[in-house]
Amino acid sequence: MEKFDVIVVGAGLAGLAAAYTLACEGLEVLVLERGDYAGAKNVTGGRLYVNPVREFFPDLWAKAPLERFIANEGFTMMAAERSLSINYYGNELADEPYQSYSVLRAKFDRWLAKQAQRKGAAVVTRSRVDDVIMEAGQVKGVWAAGEELRSDVVIACDGVLSLTAEKAGLRSPGIPENYAVGLKEVIELAPELIEARFGLEGNEGAAHMFMGEVTKGMFGGGFLYTNQASLSLGIVVSIKDMMENEASLGAPVLLDNFKQRPEIARLLKGGETVEYSAHVIPEGGYKALGKLYGDGILVAGDAAGLSMNIGVTVRGMEYALASGYYAARTVMQAKELGDFSVATLKHYELLLKDSFVLKDFASFKETPRVLDNPRFFTTYPEMLGDMMKDIYAVPGGAKNRLYPTIKKYMTLREMWQMAGDVRQVMKI
Ligand SMILES: Cc1cc2nc3c(=O)[nH]c(=O)nc-3n(C[C@H](O)[C@H](O)[C@H](O)COP(=O)(O)OP(=O)(O)OC[C@H]3O[C@@H](n4cnc5c(N)ncnc54)[C@H](O)[C@@H]3O)c2cc1C
Repeated sequence: MEKFDVIVVGAGLAGLAAAYTLACEGLEVLVLERGDYAGAKNVTGGRLYVNPVREFFPDLWAKAPLERFIANEGFTMMAAERSLSINYYGNELADEPYQSYSVLRAKFDRWLAKQAQRKGAAVVTRSRVDDVIMEAGQVKGVWAAGEELRSDVVIACDGVLSLTAEKAGLRSPGIPENYAVGLKEVIELAPELIEARFGLEGNEGAAHMFMGEVTKGMFGGGFLYTNQASLSLGIVVSIKDMMENEASLGAPVLLDNFKQRPEIARLLKGGETVEYSAHVIPEGGYKALGKLYGDGILVAGDAAGLSMNIGVTVRGMEYALASGYYAARTVMQAKELGDFSVATLKHYELLLKDSFVLKDFASFKETPRVLDNPRFFTTYPEMLGDMMKDIYAVPGGAKNRLYPTIKKYMTLREMWQMAGDVRQVMKI
C-alpha cells in the first residue's frame, strides 16, 4: 500500500497553500478534493488581502489570476427608505504593491492547484474523504471512497464543517451562534460599464460593504466587489439570528431585496447572473476556534474556524493561506525529527500565535459579542437616514437650524444607549 508523507483534505486556499509549500520542499503530498475541480465548491465574497501573506509565496503573486486591485473602499448604512454612504480613496490604495484584490475562487483555486501540481503535489478531485484512520489514538491516514490511504500526517483543510477534524475528535458539531450563512451572485457586466458606474480606471476595483436594512436588523451585512468583467454581490447573515427571528424572510429573499434597492439596482442594470452560491462561514472568533492539532493531524483554514467578520471587513482567505503555510512548516519540522505526535505538532499553534493569524483573533476576540447588537443593524441606520433627510430637506416655510434638527434624534435615552454601545465598540 502506498504511503504519503502528507495527505491534505480539501483543495481550498488552506489545503493548496499547505500542499504548495510542502511540494516545494520535496515532500510527497496527496490532496483529496471532493469537488469536480479545485475551487468548484468554494465561495468567498471576493476580496483577498495580500500584504499578510505576500512573503510566504513570493513567486506566486505576479502571475496569479487576481481580478482588480481595490482602489476604492465604500461603506453604506442602509435604512428602509434611504442610505448614507462613505467612500474612501487613498494614494496608498493605488500604489504598488497593491494591498488587496477582488478574486473569483473558481479561477483562483484552480490556478493555485496547478502551481502545487507543478511543484509535485498530487491533486485528486472528485474524491471525498469519509473518515480518518486512527491507530492507538494517532491519525494514520484517511478513508476516501472506500480506499485506505496512509500518511505520516493529515492536514484537515476541508472547510467550515470539517468532518475530518470532527472524526479525529478535534471539534464537536457547530452551534448556530458561531456561524453565518453567505449568499452570493456573480453578475457579468462589461468592464467599461463597471468602470463608469464605480468611477474606476484600468484595473482599479471597488469594494463596498453594507449594513442595516439589508439583513432586516439581523447580524450581518451586504457586500459588492468589482471583478474584471463581473460584480460579486451578496449578503452574510447570522444563522442564530435567522433561527430566532421567526419573521425572518430567509436569506434568498434578503438577497433579492438587496438587489432591488434603487442604490444597487442601477449598478447591476444590464448585468447577467452567471453564478449563484451559498456557503456557511465560521464567525465565532477566537473563543470558538477548534483544536488545531492532534497526534498525526493538523487543522487549517475554515476547518479550524479561522474566519472573521468585523463589520467593515470579512477575512478568511489570508488566514487560510497562512495557516496552510504554517501547517506545512510544522510538518517539515516533524519530518526532520521523525515525530508526528502532538509533542512536535503542537508547534503549529505556537507559529500561529506568533503570526498575524492568532494575534488578529486575540485582538478582535470581543467583536462577535460587541456586534451582536440589533441597534447597529436597525436603530442607527434608521436614525442616520432620518437625520440626513432632515438636514437636506428645504421645507416650504422656514428651515430649522442644523443643531436642533440633529438634536431631536438624540433623546437622553438614545444618548445613554449610544454611550453604552460606544463603550463596547471601544473593546474592538
Ligand atoms: C459569502 C462569503 C463571503 C466571504 N467573503 C470573504 C472576503 O471577502 N474575504 C476573505 O478573506 N474571506 C471571505 N470569506 C471567507 C473565506 O472565503 C473563507 O475563510 C475561505 O474560503 C476558507 O478557505 P479554506 O481553504 O479554509 O476552506 P474552503 O475554501 O471552504 O475549502 C475547503 C475545501 O475542502 C473541500 N472538502 C470539504 N469536505 C471535503 C471532504 N470530506 N473530502 C474532500 N474535500 C472536501 C471543499 O470542496 C473545498 O474545496 C467569505 C466567505 C463567504 C461564504
